[in-house]
Amino acid sequence: MLVSDLIKRIPSDTKKKVGKANQRHNQRVRDAIRSATRLKLTALSSDLEEGRRRGATVRVSVDQVGYPQEFEHQRIPDDFRLAALLALKRSHLIMLRDSARNIGKLLDNTAGANDTEIQDLVFKMYPAIRQKAPSISDSFEIAELLLAESSRYNLVEELFKIINEDILGHYFYGGLQSHRGQLGLIGQGPPPTGAKIVLYWGVIGLVAEAINVEVEDLTVVVMAHELAHAYTHLGFDSDNCNWDTNSFHQSDRAVVEGLAQYYTEAAAKALMNRIPGVYRAYERLLEKQPPAYHTQKEWINQTTSEAIRTSLITLRKSNPIKLSQFAEKLADIGPQYE
Ligand SMILES: [Zn+2]
Repeated sequence: MLVSDLIKRIPSDTKKKVGKANQRHNQRVRDAIRSATRLKLTALSSDLEEGRRRGATVRVSVDQVGYPQEFEHQRIPDDFRLAALLALKRSHLIMLRDSARNIGKLLDNTAGANDTEIQDLVFKMYPAIRQKAPSISDSFEIAELLLAESSRYNLVEELFKIINEDILGHYFYGGLQSHRGQLGLIGQGPPPTGAKIVLYWGVIGLVAEAINVEVEDLTVVVMAHELAHAYTHLGFDSDNCNWDTNSFHQSDRAVVEGLAQYYTEAAAKALMNRIPGVYRAYERLLEKQPPAYHTQKEWINQTTSEAIRTSLITLRKSNPIKLSQFAEKLADIGPQYE
């Protein structure tokens, strides 16, 4: 079975749900990322000629097809066909298991429950349920078996292995110079126009089901992550500097993804009151993501947002950033902010 065939089986309203989440939360997520990074997509006007604005608009749109092209011809091994198909029903299986356990306990008259009022009333009013109640444990066992089968194939981790980059959405940017030798001209590259973000609604739907989170919440996580790429790359600091596109492109992935994840986490926390499921969706997805997406964990534990931001805006002014360089910078300036 092809990955694309699996994606085609997700509920048909998923594209609409992703579009709606984008409409509802786009501004909110942008505001959260802008305030976490304290970077702006439009340069401050005081440095510029009257009436001239420098900057980029980065639109977020829902992809037509719903998944990256690379998924089109990728196969899921036959041995894992059932496991992969069951990933499409994972949230229902989890609900069935948990509900069967809960209601099973409620109606189990051998369990010696403290509060037997409901049980007594149910058996009195519906005597037939007394005989049928034990069969609830069959539902529990069915759910457990099928969940174990679906766990044989780690669908989300496998998807990340197909394309070793963002798969739920993507930040596209133009303006790369064709000659790497020109890298010395940091800040002299072509203006970063044509940047845009797409949301792969099919992958979002599939992954949301597989990790048991709401499509809307996962969409917000993806928007935050991709917008964080856009802001860390194109966002102007107070000196009207941003990240040269070639330098951004050639920096260590662990730095680029770590920064996107760092600000996604910050946005998810900031949005918790308005969109409560977002932080959990961030955490659930993180469990499945490859190592480059975990760089921020150490930063969150060991340093401050001020140190991260200062390291970013200082280092992105020169050559592509290596992870070791970023770590050294943090160690260097970290204590100032403690
Ligand atoms: Zn990314």
